[in-house]
Amino acid sequence: MRLKRNGSYTLNRKSKGKPNGKKPAPEEKKLYLEPEYTKSRITDFEFKELVMLPREIDLNEWLASNTTTFFHHINLQYSTISEFCTGESCQTMAVCNTQYYWYDERGKKIKCTAPQYVDFVMSSVQKLVTDEDVFPTKYGKEFPNSFESLVKKICKYLFHVLAHIYSSHFKETLALELHGHLNTLYTHFILFIREFNLVDPKETIIMDDLTELSRITIKILKLLVMEMKSWDPC
Ligand SMILES: [Zn+2]
Repeated sequence: MRLKRNGSYTLNRKSKGKPNGKKPAPEEKKLYLEPEYTKSRITDFEFKELVMLPREIDLNEWLASNTTTFFHHINLQYSTISEFCTGESCQTMAVCNTQYYWYDERGKKIKCTAPQYVDFVMSSVQKLVTDEDVFPTKYGKEFPNSFESLVKKICKYLFHVLAHIYSSHFKETLALELHGHLNTLYTHFILFIREFNLVDPKETIIMDDLTELSRITIKILKLLVMEMKSWDPC
């Protein structure tokens, strides 16, 4: 079965040409780990079931469809704070104390600011998901042998973007009241990459404190739902 995917997506982010001159305030405390924020979600879907490969769907089709959707959603989530992610405020692509470098097509390491890094990620992923030879949409066209390794690469970079939003732009996300969206997206994405072993756990360890809290929150929510279902007011 061939799943329908969005064929094109236009990056629509504000220009980051004018830095606002403000220095980033180092966040001593990880605000995103505060219980009042971690429990915020836009839905209490059973994500574990949502990410599982449905019967009769080809694995590559499933990976392609989900990866494309996560790319769109993570790009959209980043676009909500992109005006605060400037060459001034985020001089390196940092997540907590880790710094990421971009590697060009020849494998050359490039030191760049966070907005440049995100631009590299988004434009290269955009190129891949709209390439008919890599993410085929036409009936009968096969996925390339390198498909799974490309999906893994895409997911690793999308994880970096999500982690950067948490570590450097959670305050702005909170001010925009979009933390529920971010938490929902993060939980869904983490369960997806774990289900199909798409990102090395060594890579995601940096956000394990949040992942663990999300897992506990899901368990608590499930218990609450079960309690509510079993509660008989009569
Ligand atoms: Zn930033």
